Amino acid sequence: MPTKKIVILRLGHRPQRDKRITTHVGLAARAFGAEGMLLASEDQKLADNIADVATRWGGDFYVKNNVSWKAEIRRWKEDGGKVCHLSMYGINLPDAVPEIRQCDKLMIVVGAEKVPFEIYEMADWNVAVGNQPHSEVAAVAITMDRIAESDPLINKFTGGELTIVPEKCGKKVIDNRQ
Ligand code: SAM
Repeated sequence: MPTKKIVILRLGHRPQRDKRITTHVGLAARAFGAEGMLLASEDQKLADNIADVATRWGGDFYVKNNVSWKAEIRRWKEDGGKVCHLSMYGINLPDAVPEIRQCDKLMIVVGAEKVPFEIYEMADWNVAVGNQPHSEVAAVAITMDRIAESDPLINKFTGGELTIVPEKCGKKVIDNRQ
């Protein structure tokens, strides 16, 4: 697992509209080595669904539901953490990677609908994963891959009910409960 402590702050999630994409933000963040996701909206069901995946597939990923984004950012910074807000308007990721790599406690902020301008001011970095619009899932995954100290694709997740055995063809899964 990476030594960098990373949490995702998800802003602007609308339970009806963004259910799937916010779930994918959480799952991508978990798979690439984040320790948890802070959800700045009320959606306990979504938080429970992601927790279920973590139970099945291992690791300690958590989702904190209905947080105040401002309080979380303030607390994070008071505790010595840095904040990287992902926005297509920011400085391009390759130019920010050397500085971000120095930081060992990082909050990555991603929006859904329009992000309050205060976020741009509170962030240590406003970073674009290319200055073109695309997806928060892609933005999180690529950022985490580029800033990682070791390859996130070879992370091991322990304690889960299920483990995949990679195969050239087919699907092999070990059920650890048996
Ligand atoms: N319409 C919204 C606005 O104007 O702020 C943005 C919608 S976009 C699909 C949702 C989120 O995806 C953004 O808040 C940002 O975090 C992320 N995102 C999309 N494209 C990005 C890019 N090129 N670089 C970094 N983040 C990006």
